[in-house]
Amino acid sequence: MDVEQFRKAGYQAIDRICDYYYSLQNKLVVARVQLGYLKALVPSTPPESGEDFQIIADDYQRLIVPGLTHWQHPSFFAYFPTSCTFEGILGDLYSSSVSNPGFNWACSPACSELEVVVMDWAAKLLGLAPKFMNDSGVGGGVIQSTASECAMLAIVAARASHQRIYPDTKLEEFIIYITSQTHSLGIKAGMVLWLSVRILEVKAEDNYSLRGDTLRSALEQDKKASKKPLILIATVGTTSSGAIDNLHEIKGVVEDHPYLRVHVDAAWGGVAFSCPEFQKLGYLDEINEFADSFCTSFHKWGLVNLDATALWVRDRKYLTEALNTTPPYLRTKQGDADTTIDYRNWHFAVGRRFRSSKLWFVLRSFGVQGFQQHIRKSIRLNNLFVDLVKQSDIIKIVTPPSLSLTVFRLEPPSQQWQDLQSLNALNTMLFGRISARDDIYLTQTILSGKVCIRFVVGAERTKESHIRRAFDTILKEAVLALEEWKRPSAYSVL
Ligand SMILES: *Cc1c(COP(=O)(O)O)cnc(C)c1O
Repeated sequence: MDVEQFRKAGYQAIDRICDYYYSLQNKLVVARVQLGYLKALVPSTPPESGEDFQIIADDYQRLIVPGLTHWQHPSFFAYFPTSCTFEGILGDLYSSSVSNPGFNWACSPACSELEVVVMDWAAKLLGLAPKFMNDSGVGGGVIQSTASECAMLAIVAARASHQRIYPDTKLEEFIIYITSQTHSLGIKAGMVLWLSVRILEVKAEDNYSLRGDTLRSALEQDKKASKKPLILIATVGTTSSGAIDNLHEIKGVVEDHPYLRVHVDAAWGGVAFSCPEFQKLGYLDEINEFADSFCTSFHKWGLVNLDATALWVRDRKYLTEALNTTPPYLRTKQGDADTTIDYRNWHFAVGRRFRSSKLWFVLRSFGVQGFQQHIRKSIRLNNLFVDLVKQSDIIKIVTPPSLSLTVFRLEPPSQQWQDLQSLNALNTMLFGRISARDDIYLTQTILSGKVCIRFVVGAERTKESHIRRAFDTILKEAVLALEEWKRPSAYSVL
């Protein structure tokens, strides 16, 4: 493809993307293709000689688009949203067009410098303390691909700092602390890093928030057993129910156990700190006072397309002392003089995508106010959903709604529905009915053994009408589930 052919194909691609967004509302949310559908449609070997680009572009429309679930659809309420914007797409396109690996300053100065700047912008947007900013020269911010990677980095950094302080400690003595509500990244990090993981209990009556006393008694027990708790992965906005660990109490405990590092995973909820009214709820003051690291994914609720997880550390040496390796071919004058950030020492790989451009485009286009509006709109729409649920006498909220997430279940008032097992079977049936639809998408969870359904607002195009329609659909399916239950065959699910 030469430059003029690229120009033509590029214009066509943008036209097709615009058509996609114009028709998005009218599409089904969920892809209805059979498992393995694509294998039957594409050859099993790459073409021997190059194909005509137009045929490839048409095949994308014909073969791939029908197999996509539309995460930007206004009726997408599953998992957590990935609210991308045109500004972010264009920022990414520019970055893609130069394919710079930006691992140190000299290899492409703008890549490092823009990341240094926008990570400080993002820190200011969220109200993080100056010590987390690149400008401080002590802490700093870096863009990673995922929240899992951030947690893994925090654990590796904690392990390295412990090994420096206690060089005789054996690997099997170290422990990672998580809670039963921590994202599966905690367990996975333990598997990958060969470290044991202690799962701290959280209770329904605390809305699944980790309390200080639970942490304190675990620390005391492990101390007696000569174990070395390395790090606590605390969460602001758990995946299952949006629970927020009690960082106020945790701070009090950590003051007595200063060797314990704390990483705050706010992958989904963290961007809500852009609105001052949600900062207290998520313990921003405490995070600023004592967290060693904090991460939030702008690619979830933060208007930036995948992938863009922001990680801030209180002390950049925390990362660099664990990850710095400088072979001769990576040495630079600026790196040797320590006058610049070499981001390759802030993550696992060497090369890295130039992701700051899309963050820059989004933050400039929306401004702080536009960003806040998006967050507030999602929360307002979720509150509308909550109001509708409260008016129903068969659907109940399970745990208090968190930001733009509500966990609910079908709980008919009659005596018949008192036992957990039949209510679970009923809700499994309801979820099955909702999942069989392709005009709406929700996911499920289990809280204290209860089968529940999650509803999360966040797609940029979701409006009040989509929330009302979603609630009507859920209610209709709930009534149908109850009718289906009355039919004798339904009991076989028990
Ligand atoms: C989504 C989510 C994750 C997982 O994120 P990845 O970026 O896909 O690793 C981790 N923690 C929380 C709280 C999340 O919401």
